[in-house]
Amino acid sequence: MALLRVVAVKGETDSTSWELHPDESRRHGGRGAYVHRDLTCGGLAIQRRAFERALKIQGVLSGDLLMAALKQQSS
Ligand SMILES: [Zn+2]
Repeated sequence: MALLRVVAVKGETDSTSWELHPDESRRHGGRGAYVHRDLTCGGLAIQRRAFERALKIQGVLSGDLLMAALKQQSS
């Protein structure tokens, strides 16, 4: 199954919130993580806080954008 690169982008409002961004075009530099392009897989990784560990994020990391992207392609 193909992998999707994701990166963490700092939230605009406060310094402890982060958003997981799908990085389709690989234009984001820095630390990235990879997840299968699969809704179940992405959901589990978010639940297990796998991206916080992989991307070394302290604080709240929202997986909403990733889930929306995975939902869109599975339909
Ligand atoms: Zn998987």
